[in-house]
Amino acid sequence: MTAQILDGKRSAEKVKAEVSTAVSSLGYVPGLATVLVGDDPASHAYVRGKRRDAEEVGIVSVHHELPADVSQGELGELIRGLNEDDAVDGILVQLPLPGGLDSETVVTAIDPGKDVDGIHPHNLGLLVLDRPGLRPCTPSGIMRILDDHGVSVAGKTAVIIGRSFLVGRPLALMLASKGVDATVTLAHSRTDELAAVARRADLLVAAAGVPGLVTADFVSPGATVVDVGISRTDQGLVGDVDFEAVREVAGWVTPVPGGVGPMTRAMLLVNTVGAALARRG
Ligand code: NAD
Repeated sequence: MTAQILDGKRSAEKVKAEVSTAVSSLGYVPGLATVLVGDDPASHAYVRGKRRDAEEVGIVSVHHELPADVSQGELGELIRGLNEDDAVDGILVQLPLPGGLDSETVVTAIDPGKDVDGIHPHNLGLLVLDRPGLRPCTPSGIMRILDDHGVSVAGKTAVIIGRSFLVGRPLALMLASKGVDATVTLAHSRTDELAAVARRADLLVAAAGVPGLVTADFVSPGATVVDVGISRTDQGLVGDVDFEAVREVAGWVTPVPGGVGPMTRAMLLVNTVGAALARRG
């Protein structure tokens, strides 16, 4: 069997077209503030991409760049200003921050209504309660790509490898929520017999950041495999999944690049418009 491709590029284009239509009917231009600290080239590239996406769909993006030695107080001051700025609907602080800065303090300082990354404790709490709120972009992107390709997980077994607050844990809640109805196992670096646990999955999500971790023997025939991992190697960007081997066993698989990455970016736009609508109508 050769797996079908969960095409993140195509789904992301669809999402962007929807956002663009929504923006044009708002009667105002939503604003996204991006905050970049330091000179990490990967972070610069990510923020450039996010700003380009925003402008493509009619969201104005205002960029703030700070030196790596900025103080926690100065960064906090910038966030407070953006919280109060009426033209700003969403605030994105690119993580990770350079050493010496506490990202939890920074994220918590963002107005939860403008937290378009969906990682403020208030928004994560709403997710736990299954109440509407801004959701983290990567897990929402995964939910959307599955939906777009008609992959249902109701009553099925999902195994997620990786328990970060950014990906694994929120995704576990989304998959187990009423109406989605998967039965979820959250595996991590201390999980015994990882391959055997993974083989139970109808949906296997790899979010460990370990290149090639998921080999063909992790995958039950016909399973859906979602690769979140992104590692920079001499061969370029690689995921957690041994794509060539796994595609011979799986039913569906996401490529890297062109899978989860574009969906994460697209969901940031969805969140920005959602934040604008909630605040301004
Ligand atoms: P993290 O480092 O915060 O968490 C990694 C998790 O993986 C931990 O829970 C850890 O227990 C688990 N893990 C590590 N090694 C393992 C192993 N050998 N076996 C089983 N579990 C193991 O990372 P994160 O922020 O969740 O990101 C994970 C990966 O996803 C990274 O490669 C990151 O670059 C990528 N990522 C991609 C996107 C995207 O849009 N595609 C978005 C966010 C993160």
